[in-house]
Amino acid sequence: MQTVMDGQCGLCTHFGEPHGGNDKLVTIVQSHKADEHIVDECGHPKHASLHLKVTPISGCDGFQPAKAA
Ligand code: SF4
Repeated sequence: MQTVMDGQCGLCTHFGEPHGGNDKLVTIVQSHKADEHIVDECGHPKHASLHLKVTPISGCDGFQPAKAA
């Protein structure tokens, strides 16, 4: 497991957004911990058409904090 910091994809509302997220992504938001092998799609409007895939510790200036479920 790795620690996910503020500003990184694992805590961003756009991480996994194209498929509506899942329990695994909610767990990352709540625990700030993520499996190092996770890769998921970014749903940011500027990236969605490119099907950008990112890891929980990736990041960009489009970061918007996910609501902690
Ligand atoms: S690439 Fe940027 S917009 Fe997409 S999930 Fe990561 S921080 Fe959020």
